[in-house]
Formats: sequence, C-alpha cells, structure tokens
Amino acid sequence: MSTTIPVTTADAERRIRDAASVDRSIRLITTGAARGETCTPDLARGPWEFDRGPAGYGPGSSMGDVIPAGAPRQGALPAKYREASAAELDERVRAAKATLGDRVVVLGHFYQRDEVVQHADFTGDSFQLANAAKSKPDAEAIVFCGVHFMAETADMLSRPEQAVILPNLAAGCSMADMADTSSVEECWEQLEEVYGDLTAVDETGRVPVIPVTYMNSSAALKGFVGRNGGIVCTSSNAVTVLEWAFERGQRVLFFPDQHLGRNTAKAMGVPLEAMPMWNPRKPLGGSTAEELQDARVILWHGFCSVHKRFTVDQIEQARRDHPGVQVIVHPECPMPVVDAADAAGSTDFIVKAIQAAPAGSTFAIGTEINLVQRLAAEHPEHTIFCLDPVVCPCSTMYRIHPGYLAWVLEELVAGRVVNRIEVADDVAEPARVALERMLAAKPPASVTVPAGSTIAAATDAAAAPVGA
Ligand code: SF4
Repeated sequence: MSTTIPVTTADAERRIRDAASVDRSIRLITTGAARGETCTPDLARGPWEFDRGPAGYGPGSSMGDVIPAGAPRQGALPAKYREASAAELDERVRAAKATLGDRVVVLGHFYQRDEVVQHADFTGDSFQLANAAKSKPDAEAIVFCGVHFMAETADMLSRPEQAVILPNLAAGCSMADMADTSSVEECWEQLEEVYGDLTAVDETGRVPVIPVTYMNSSAALKGFVGRNGGIVCTSSNAVTVLEWAFERGQRVLFFPDQHLGRNTAKAMGVPLEAMPMWNPRKPLGGSTAEELQDARVILWHGFCSVHKRFTVDQIEQARRDHPGVQVIVHPECPMPVVDAADAAGSTDFIVKAIQAAPAGSTFAIGTEINLVQRLAAEHPEHTIFCLDPVVCPCSTMYRIHPGYLAWVLEELVAGRVVNRIEVADDVAEPARVALERMLAAKPPASVTVPAGSTIAAATDAAAAPVGA
C-alpha cells in the first residue's frame, strides 16, 4: 500500500526529498539502518575519493566498464566542499544561485541525484535539457548536471558567448565512450571495402549505408555522422529517424547502443538476422562480407551498463509479487526485457505514462534508480518501484555531487569559469548538421510499429521547468 505524503509544509517537502534520495538509501543500507543491497559500498563515499585515483567511472553500474585512455580527469575538489555537511552545501548552492540570478541556468538530468536536482531550473532528458538551455539565451553560464556528451550538445546548441559547465569532468558516459572516433573511422573504411563507394546511389537513389548515432555519443561521433550524410536520434524519435535513414540508405550503421538500435528496428519489422553486430575489435566487426551485404541495420557493440542490469527474471518476479503490475522499461534494455515488458519508451514516455495512470496503479520501472525513486516520491497515489532490487545508480551521473555544484557556482560568483566544455568548430559544425536533420525529420505516414510491439512510437517533449 502506498503512503500518502502531504506537500503543504517544508517538513513534508523534506520527507519527499528524503524518500527520493538514492544517496540516502545507499547510506541507510551501508550502515545497516535499512534492509537492501547496493552494488558497491563505495557508493557511500564522496565522488572526490575517486578523482584522486586512476581514471575510471567510479562506483555504480558502469564501474566494470573500460574507460578510454585520455578520458577527462577532474582535479582535486577544494577541501571546504569535500568536508562540508549536506546542509551547508545546500545553503551554499542556494546562496550562489541567488547571487547569480538570471546569469546562470542549472540543468538537472532525470538520472541525477536528488540533492542536485532540487537546485535545477529545468529537469529532463539530455535533448530536452539542451533545448531548455536555448530558452535562456541571456544566461552567461549553463551548469549542466549530467554527463559529458550532454554538456557538449548544450554547448553546440547554445550561443557561443555562453559557457557550458560540467561540475565534475569525470562525469562521462560509459556507453558513449564505447564508440571512439578511431574505431568508428576504421569501421567506415572496412565498410567501404565491402560496399564500394559509400556516396554512390543505387537505382532507388539510396547510398549503401547511412550512419545514425544516438544522442548518447560524443560530439566527435555526431560530427562524423553529420559529415557522412547521417543523423542523430533520441530514444523518443528513433523510429522516425530510422525511417528517415532507410529512405536514403540501403542500410543503417547504428551507434553506440546496440539495444536501442535492435529494439527499434525489430519493432519496425527488421528481422534479427538482418542486424549483425559490429565488434570494433574484430575484422569486419565479426561478420562476413555476405552478412554485411544482407544487413539492414549494423549494430555497434555498445550498451548502457545501467539498463543492462534489467532481466526477464526481474519482470517475472514483479508479476508474481504484484499481480496487475505494469512493467515499463527503457529501450536501452536488452531485447528479451523489452519483449517481456508491457511497454518500452524514453524517460519522458515513462514519466508521462505514470502521470496519466489512474490512482492506485502499480508500476515496475526498468530505468535508472534516481528517476524511479523520484517518481515514487512524487506519486504517492501509485506504487512505483525499480525492477532491479539492487540500488545501483549510473556511475557517471553519481560523480556530480552537490559539492561540485557549489564549487562551480561559487567560482562563477567570483568571476571565474571552471570546467567549461567547448566543442571545436570543425566538430560542432557537422554535428549540428546531424542534429538539424533529426529536428527536421518528421514521422511520415508510413511509420508503423507492428501491433503487439511494446516499444513506444515517436514523441516530442520539452524539459520541465522546476516548479512549473
Ligand atoms: S545511464 Fe547509461 S547511457 Fe545514461 S549516462 Fe549513464 S551510462 Fe550513459
């Protein structure tokens, strides 16, 4: 049974925040004050503990992934931020924001910890937030509480005078890092050997292959895609974008998330045998030239370590424990999980499905735990829980702690811009072309998702101003 939490007093608001706080859940579990399991007790330590050691994603869901050489490193956070209490950091952030006023806009990704999101002017997914930044053209600084590729996109879409700041430079994205530029260029050269001239059109006017990259990729990869006739997609518009690509190419090369590519193409009727995987460590990605000739979608060997944790067993357990439960998962989950769920869609789709449900509904959600716990706290009229019983947030989102937010904001107050993310013009220009193609791609009448598919059709959404 869900507990009704009134929202009329400061005390009640604090209770809601506490209920939503993944950080608090982890502390209670690691001290034995609450039952439960986290993926590592290191999550209870400050992220700065990991900035001093070798480069890595830190504790959380992607801590086992290989971080590329040359990944950005965060310098030491001054002691006054490391040693401050949560209440002191909260006060410092509020005071700095009040001093800066409209000179700064703070963006908080859905997967960000609640102690940071509460200070955000906008919350949303990566693309919604990049667009939200555009709605504040007079802000001198955009503090992006997300991960590196998100700050890059905001930099490319904002005015050149605006400084986009990532509070912790070590907040990368393990999935985006799985498609590095040199591996991608090497893949393209090998495809040219198989298909011939990649710019030559056939009798239907289509080139051999169109590169498509998920928003969760580096600016360099977006630039590569833009230079080679390709396009960017989000988890909200992947069906529309793939249809756009199939009109212009005999095949699609999809980066970096194999699961979003496979789930989307399967929902559009592409057979699995026409979707070989490209493993950058193997010649021809691990396929034969014949398999690549027959391909409709070539899937890059990338994945999200958060969404990889969800399993069919978890769904079956949720259905046993909660008869009537609605299971909604993100399309970055593996295909068997998407197939076993009642619906699959972007974070915005999940948020809207919960908002639209009649009171008393029960949801098991397959996406990052910070969003799930926040939705559960915001919707006491429903029962909402994460499919994965282990508390294991995104490692890289976890690197943004209120201490870093307080630091970058107080540096701005002092007239200093730290941790600025800037994309070079020769990368940003073709990347913007790929982004603009996505914005111009409209769902044609022919786009259909077969009946029985769990994957959500295209939606467009805006970031939510906090408090609106
Ligand atoms: S949830 Fe997955 S895709 Fe999103 S930032 Fe974390 S690792 Fe990257």
